[in-house]
Amino acid sequence: MTHRDPVIIAGGGPVAAVLAVALWKQDIPITVLERETQPLIDQRAASNHPPTIKMLVDLGLEDILKEGLEAPKYRIWDRETRETIVEFDLTELSDEFAYPFVLQYEQYKTVRKILDLFGGKTGFNFLFEHEVRTLKQESNHVNVEVKLPDGSIKTMRASFFNRLRRRGFNYSERGRNRLSWIYV
Ligand SMILES: Cc1cc2nc3c(=O)[nH]c(=O)nc-3n(C[C@H](O)[C@H](O)[C@H](O)COP(=O)(O)OP(=O)(O)OC[C@H]3O[C@@H](n4cnc5c(N)ncnc54)[C@H](O)[C@@H]3O)c2cc1C
Repeated sequence: MTHRDPVIIAGGGPVAAVLAVALWKQDIPITVLERETQPLIDQRAASNHPPTIKMLVDLGLEDILKEGLEAPKYRIWDRETRETIVEFDLTELSDEFAYPFVLQYEQYKTVRKILDLFGGKTGFNFLFEHEVRTLKQESNHVNVEVKLPDGSIKTMRASFFNRLRRRGFNYSERGRNRLSWIYV
């Protein structure tokens, strides 16, 4: 791991956690800042489709295969008549997909799994009760203002700022360009 400013990721949802692993595996130090005290548990996404499963397994999350529920067929229903409108049998695409099924694995479990596997490793920092307030692009880094658990404000230095939530942030146009860049 090289010594340089980390990539700071605001918000510790599933997208942030997976992005953090993908960057860290390329020797890029990351710091995830999540304002809640733990991964949010609510009724959201649970269905992982074949390309997503492959991406997660390739990142080292093969545990999800034994912990999740496999659904080789998925269906779209008419809510009123309760009739099946269409059924997709993914086993028919076994020659296309390494994992020809949908895997039911709730998104907060993905975050927890990533924390179990990578949390505490050098260059992989996932901090709860850290709320991102503002950011400012400097000439060769970004200053991120963060509210800490005790209510105090700290400025953290990042090489880039990857913002997953726009609202409430006061960022410069230049900073935004760099944000876009990281996705290219
Ligand atoms: C009711 C509902 C049902 C859904 N059902 C499905 C589904 O069936 N299938 C599907 O594929 N998708 C579904 N989705 C969408 C799915 O949940 C989202 O695509 C997914 O949560 C996006 O992940 P994320 O990591 O980008 O954001 P989020 O999961 O929203 O995570 C963002 C994180 O950022 C944190 N945060 C926000 N602001 C700050 C800040 N200033 N500082 C620090 N932390 C901050 C939040 O606390 C949160 O933990 C559903 C969404 C909802 C709301």
